[in-house]
Amino acid sequence: MNHQPLSPATSNGTVPLPALDVQNLTVAYEQTVVLHTVSFVIPAGERVALVGPNGAGKSTLLKALVGLIRPTTGSIRVNGHLHTQCNDVAYVPQRAQVDWSFPVNVWDVVMLGRTAHIGLFRSPGRHDRDRVAHSLELVRMTDLARRQIGELSGGQQQRVFIARALAQDACVLLLDEPMTGLDVRAQQEVLHMIDAIHRDGVTVLVATHDLQQAANTRYYERVLLLNQSLIQGGQAHAVLTAEHLTAAYGGHLHRIETEQGILLVHDRH
Ligand code: ADP
Repeated sequence: MNHQPLSPATSNGTVPLPALDVQNLTVAYEQTVVLHTVSFVIPAGERVALVGPNGAGKSTLLKALVGLIRPTTGSIRVNGHLHTQCNDVAYVPQRAQVDWSFPVNVWDVVMLGRTAHIGLFRSPGRHDRDRVAHSLELVRMTDLARRQIGELSGGQQQRVFIARALAQDACVLLLDEPMTGLDVRAQQEVLHMIDAIHRDGVTVLVATHDLQQAANTRYYERVLLLNQSLIQGGQAHAVLTAEHLTAAYGGHLHRIETEQGILLVHDRH
């Protein structure tokens, strides 16, 4: 297994301050270790796909990065600072983990992103309302601001949570399987939004089971391949090799190179 970090070197030889610097991260539930000494560095402003089989620890890694789970050992630095739980990292959970019947409207969900800025016992000010309005505009949800979240389509629900993350003004955005259960059009919209957020300078880490999407360099600059430990991190062509994929998934993987890039087919038979 190779624990080589993502290379942060730039063409002029300088090393930019990484947005995320994770060293020897080990996470356990009770006595069961599910992430083993994971180390990687993500340069600021990149879009990174986090891939690996079911149970690889992708969700667990994102939860540890946002401070929802306390690691057993290891360190997480965000923009060079030791990170426990702060506002610099925003997290969009899997849609299945959210109680969509909770009686709250779109505006209020996005305002939750401002909580850390407002403080618990104060009311939102004009700046907070402006940030929420701007975030809703960015995800094209302004017209649905007063709609109950349970009445939205899957794609709209995903966009509300992305807006909440944007309203937080975080520099790192973590998304857990944001495309799962969405039709192709809604997936494309989410990918466009990730692209827009990235162009705004935000670093984006997306857990996905979609290897073909992860391999597409239009969507992601880098890939992290995980199966309890980090198998490889870097550019898709170097990470998604037969050797690494076999280490992560076992056999039954076909790798096809096309003019558009690398095409991967997971043979389930
Ligand atoms: P992935 O997102 O890659 O599918 P997860 O992070 O959800 O992987 O899970 C990694 C491992 O941790 C799995 O074996 C899963 O069963 C286990 N696990 C996840 N959440 C919990 C939990 N709350 N308590 C105990 N074990 C858990």
